[in-house]
Amino acid sequence: MTTVDTQQTLDYDRLFLGGQWTAPATAERIEVHSATTHERVGSVPEAREADVDAAVTAARGAFDDPTGWAHWSPSRRREALERFAQALEARGQETARRVTIQNGMPIRLAQQWEQGFPPVLVRYFADLAESTQEEIRPGLLGKQTKVLRRPIGVVAQIVPWNVPQAITFLALSPALAAGCTVVLKPSLETVLDAFLLAEAAEAAGLPAGIINIVPGGREIGAYLVSHLGVDKVAFTGSTAAGRKVAAACGELLRPVTLELGGKSAAVILDDADLDSQLEDFFAATMINNGQVCWTGTRLLVPSSRYDELTGTLADLYSGLKVGDPLDPETQIGPLVSERQRDRVEGYIAQGKQEARLLVGGGRPQGIDQGWFVEPTVFADVDPKATIAQEEIFGPVLSIIRYQDEADATRIANDSDFGLGGSVWTADPERGEAFARTVRTGTIGINGYANDPVAPFGGVKASGLGRELGREGLASFQEIKTIYLDKLNG
Ligand code: NAD
Repeated sequence: MTTVDTQQTLDYDRLFLGGQWTAPATAERIEVHSATTHERVGSVPEAREADVDAAVTAARGAFDDPTGWAHWSPSRRREALERFAQALEARGQETARRVTIQNGMPIRLAQQWEQGFPPVLVRYFADLAESTQEEIRPGLLGKQTKVLRRPIGVVAQIVPWNVPQAITFLALSPALAAGCTVVLKPSLETVLDAFLLAEAAEAAGLPAGIINIVPGGREIGAYLVSHLGVDKVAFTGSTAAGRKVAAACGELLRPVTLELGGKSAAVILDDADLDSQLEDFFAATMINNGQVCWTGTRLLVPSSRYDELTGTLADLYSGLKVGDPLDPETQIGPLVSERQRDRVEGYIAQGKQEARLLVGGGRPQGIDQGWFVEPTVFADVDPKATIAQEEIFGPVLSIIRYQDEADATRIANDSDFGLGGSVWTADPERGEAFARTVRTGTIGINGYANDPVAPFGGVKASGLGRELGREGLASFQEIKTIYLDKLNG
């Protein structure tokens, strides 16, 4: 395993609040350890209530400034955000490295998602905001109406540890492009990449107070969500926490976007040529060590080809390269933490009671440190089994047999969740016809890949609202109607 240079740990003693590196209110600290070697890699101050108050005050002040960010023209904001995109690019490699060390994401993937995606999103939303015009609607009753899109205000953003940078930018980019200001709360497990983001904001000369970062746990997250200075909450995390956030926002009548858990279906139709699509199939089902909300973790296999396809899948998942996530060849790294490994191993034990273990089921041989579990596949899984219904969030898959397409649709929809999914077929039209029958927010044909223009989000217990695309920008805007005088027209 690549060891970390412990002489050069990343220790920060200040928080990024109001555009300044500010002394924290208390001496509490968050210690960060490598998911792979368990070495201490750095530490940051832990934000407490007084720090959140300072962050919200700064964001509020920046938003309410009558000549500030919210009132800049979209093209002036775009110029500033272009500098931000460049500053992120300049730090991109280090961002990927920090994420990989903290959460075990294979470095190739971190370079693609955590290094590559943020500047793309910043530019996409800055351009989109610039091209979104005020609209004039001819009225039915004689006068015209002007429809404005105003920034919604101070945004509290709460993110998980699994894809910390790309997920942050799913909401941070449209929020800033719309003219909002943001208080970001990263997860305890992944704080070091968030400090690099702060450095990029500072280097880009973004106005003080438009980005503020309060690293902390769930209590500080709950405090931020209910803070009186906040206008909108963007939450990504578990369904259990999302329900609490939604309840707090409901009480306050505060708009909220929720990107929550999933248990999506990867449906192999009976004409699929899976052998030629194994890399894409792996990416759609077990990427990032199985710690992705949208992955298809229920593999629906037709009865007519069950034995053959189960054999193909066994070969695929037993042949993955498991190991050091800093090695560019690695496909499966460690889980983020001991707690997460305990949770995943609990589900594997449950699966051994409920189904036939096909691949894995233990810890990888020859690796004596890091929060690793073997890629694990269960076959003959009952669609109602716990491992087929609950989100495991690790490299654990369930193969479920189906009889015909109607049966596959029924099983795919037999879930509390509805976030992602995929259909595998030699006939894309047939794939699309099937995709239409699945109740989910997003679904791919012969693959699954988010795109900045494509709205992303879930139905049922997977969440509320959409990120990305025009819809993602709109969720940080409020609509204001001006009924024009006849003379305006
Ligand atoms: P988590 O819900 O425990 O924590 C997520 C974030 O919310 C963390 O920053 C945490 O500190 C904070 N938090 C927890 N409870 C809170 C509360 N009551 N009020 C305010 N903040 C609170 O989830 P996790 O274990 O960090 O992440 C994994 C989960 O996130 C999985 O369920 C996964 O499916 C989901 N997720 C969803 C998406 C999506 O886009 N739908 C993306 C990634 C992860």
